[in-house]
Amino acid sequence: MLRLFPALGLLLISFSLSFAVQAQSQSQLRVLTSIKPLQLIAAAVQDGVGQPDVLLPPGASPHHYALRPSDVRRVRDADLLYWIGQDLESFLPRVLAGRDKPSVAVQDVPGMALRHFGDSDEHQDDHADHADHADHAHAADQHDHAHRPGSLDAHLWLLPANARIIAGKIAADLAQADPANAARYQANAKAFGQRLDALDQRLKTRLNGLAGKPYFVFHEAYDYFEAAYGLNHAGVFSVLGEVQPGAQHVAAMRERLQQAGPTCVFSEPPFRPRLAQTLTAGLPVTLAELDSMGGTLPVDAKGYEALLENMAGELASCLEAL
Ligand SMILES: [Zn+2]
Repeated sequence: MLRLFPALGLLLISFSLSFAVQAQSQSQLRVLTSIKPLQLIAAAVQDGVGQPDVLLPPGASPHHYALRPSDVRRVRDADLLYWIGQDLESFLPRVLAGRDKPSVAVQDVPGMALRHFGDSDEHQDDHADHADHADHAHAADQHDHAHRPGSLDAHLWLLPANARIIAGKIAADLAQADPANAARYQANAKAFGQRLDALDQRLKTRLNGLAGKPYFVFHEAYDYFEAAYGLNHAGVFSVLGEVQPGAQHVAAMRERLQQAGPTCVFSEPPFRPRLAQTLTAGLPVTLAELDSMGGTLPVDAKGYEALLENMAGELASCLEAL
């Protein structure tokens, strides 16, 4: 028995040491976000204190995701949970009902700049004027009901001003839940906001003068970004990656590409639709990618900025070369 005391003493010392270290810097709070872009924003706020987790695996689309049992457990166990809202993660409300800890739909945070599909006049005409309208509307329905005209455009993270508001909300929540690190969260959010101002200026400079250059996208995800930086896509090929559209639809899409002349077509990683090749063969089209989810980016304080920077870089380098 006596021989146990020294060991016990050491154990106690090491317990209190590690507790002291954690109280000063590391936090045991489990922050969970639905999608990677929100994880990157949370990582900026938690920098030096903790690391946020993310629900969706890389490459998964929030528009059609089915939760696994392990996801349900993570949703239940997280101390704080951030998601966009029911217009994007329609699979979440069902499991959120079983949570007894805070969940925040960031679309409901006061001050967010929200868009609705069809908000921009240019885009309304874009879809209505074309002979393939009926076909397109059908394909869009299949793709995602949340993209109906008038419904909320849930891709709200692609606007630096919104990222700043989300970071502010996360910092306030964390400061309350983890007072020992409150000053750090607030300082991180403030520094993030200042970096976003600088980023916004860089993106304006980078994308300036590209307004008239035609490009096409495979998913109507970029309206926030485009509205902020004066860009405007010439069309959206709303098609499911795994279903080949009819020959008539493909012919109509090719005709639009032909009329546009030299143009860029942006698909989204990790998949380049097989259709992209069929659609663009023999036409003066440059195929490139836009990653609105930041799928391959490391999760750190600069990740969100890298996401927007990469998107701007992809757009600028393709459009400048037209
Ligand atoms: Zn989308």
